[in-house]
Amino acid sequence: MSDLEIQLCENENGDLCQDVLIIPQESSVNDILAAFERFCAEKTASCYGCVGCCQERVPVTSLDAERLLQLLPTEERTLAKLCEKLLDIETFPDGAVDIRLKRDPEGCCILMDKENSCCSKHIYRTFACASHYCLPRSEKLDDIRSAIVNQGMDELVRQLYAEGILPQINIEDYPPNIFTGKSTYNDILLCELIDI
Ligand code: SF4
Ligand code: SF4
Repeated sequence: MSDLEIQLCENENGDLCQDVLIIPQESSVNDILAAFERFCAEKTASCYGCVGCCQERVPVTSLDAERLLQLLPTEERTLAKLCEKLLDIETFPDGAVDIRLKRDPEGCCILMDKENSCCSKHIYRTFACASHYCLPRSEKLDDIRSAIVNQGMDELVRQLYAEGILPQINIEDYPPNIFTGKSTYNDILLCELIDI
């Protein structure tokens, strides 16, 4: 575990925001998730009973997909089944692909427990869910999150292509990246994703 900490700071407008001041060289994505969990426990109100942000787009990375597979019956743990049951995939004319958690007709995340207004699969939630709280973020923190989500989703696109699920994409647009061959967020160092 690294000494990475998320702190409450003021942005250039004088508003409170979440920021990360020091990023030790050995910090992994797991370290930033752990720091975020500590930050929420110490500085923010509990989300319980609020699902305000569970009605927004939730991007999915290759490692999120691996975790979400555990929600399917053993015999259905394939990317094809995951796409069918839990993911929405959108392709764009310029070759871009967006992969996100499915939402129900009211726009709520498919994993939301609507009766109790909470996440029904908290420990399986995505990186985007686990690293979000409804407070502004500094530009640096936003850049880190975006780099993780974008590269993680690109790797998932590569995997879906390999399974024949996205035959229309140009695979040269999705070369192997830092997520390729990785099985946990602990294996991905922030210094390999962005300049820190
Ligand atoms: S982070 Fe989302 S669920 Fe939590 S309090 Fe804010 S809006 Fe509600
Ligand atoms: S996975 Fe859970 S925390 Fe994330 S949007 Fe869905 S219900 Fe909310």
